[in-house]
Amino acid sequence: MNFQTVLDEIDTEIRPLLGAAGTVASYIPALARVPAEHFGIALHTRDGEEACAGDAREPFSIQSVSKLFTLTLAMRCLGDRLWERIGREPSGNPFNSLVQLEFEAGRPRNPFINAGALAVADRLVTQARAGECEGDGDRPGGGPRDARDDLLALMSDLAGEAVAFDAEVAASEAATGFRNVALVNFMKSFGKIDNDVADVLDMYFHQCAIRMSCAQLARAAGFLCRDGAHPLGRGRATDAGNVVTDRQARRINALMLTCGTYDAAGDVAFSIGLPCKSGVGGGIVAVVPDRLTLAVWSPALDASGNSLLGMKALELFVAKTGLSVF
Ligand code: GLN
Repeated sequence: MNFQTVLDEIDTEIRPLLGAAGTVASYIPALARVPAEHFGIALHTRDGEEACAGDAREPFSIQSVSKLFTLTLAMRCLGDRLWERIGREPSGNPFNSLVQLEFEAGRPRNPFINAGALAVADRLVTQARAGECEGDGDRPGGGPRDARDDLLALMSDLAGEAVAFDAEVAASEAATGFRNVALVNFMKSFGKIDNDVADVLDMYFHQCAIRMSCAQLARAAGFLCRDGAHPLGRGRATDAGNVVTDRQARRINALMLTCGTYDAAGDVAFSIGLPCKSGVGGGIVAVVPDRLTLAVWSPALDASGNSLLGMKALELFVAKTGLSVF
């Protein structure tokens, strides 16, 4: 299959639709300024082949796509202990909802809604401070670390290129993220957050403010289509040299399919049939297990906070290639 041709065709079909529907996230002021008329798509195959079209090399705010990678860091450090604080069920509610937390005593439904990602961020702050688990990159282990550095090191290692935070977006989220402030305080009231809420929020706002391109994201997520093996074939993380174990990679894919697109997860499974993780910057990462990873970006969102044309592009990809888990 010529993937470059497929992506070029999708770009040609999507481009006339840019700006026609959906709205750019406006509740984070720094995101509201991004023009809606962008579309990029990239893929990275299990064998290391890459293809890109449109604005695939332009960096954007990955937002909640980062939840995939913080989950990866937490799972490989904590193993099953992670699930003492976080569930694995779809929430059926908007990503920033507070309602279930009260009934469920501060244990978020899954790691991909905001409450769950804040709980993961708390675990990462704890493990970095304690110097637990190996950090990524070439730094020697041992001693306290900064969880933000752990995440950047992981992302840069997986992408094969330096990845950075956008300080303006992080500050914009910190200035306006009242729901996230509420969520983490609410969980803390149930005794489910160990660190200071300010430190957990700082980690969370920074992870959301990572800037990456579709090409970098498709590559960085590559371990999810190759049983946990490093996308660039140079693992450093766990015993077998893999980013995560094959079992953990399967589980992350399962969570992406059931929870990765919030209260649209059922519709996405129905219309696309791929594990996906979206963000309000308009990015989506999708996995064709054992074959390839895809990243798409278009900033205008639908009512669930998923990229409208990003989802359309994934539908086109599945229709043109027949690649889907079902
Ligand atoms: N930073 C955003 C928030 O916390 C991330 C949400 C998202 O991408 N779905 O609201």
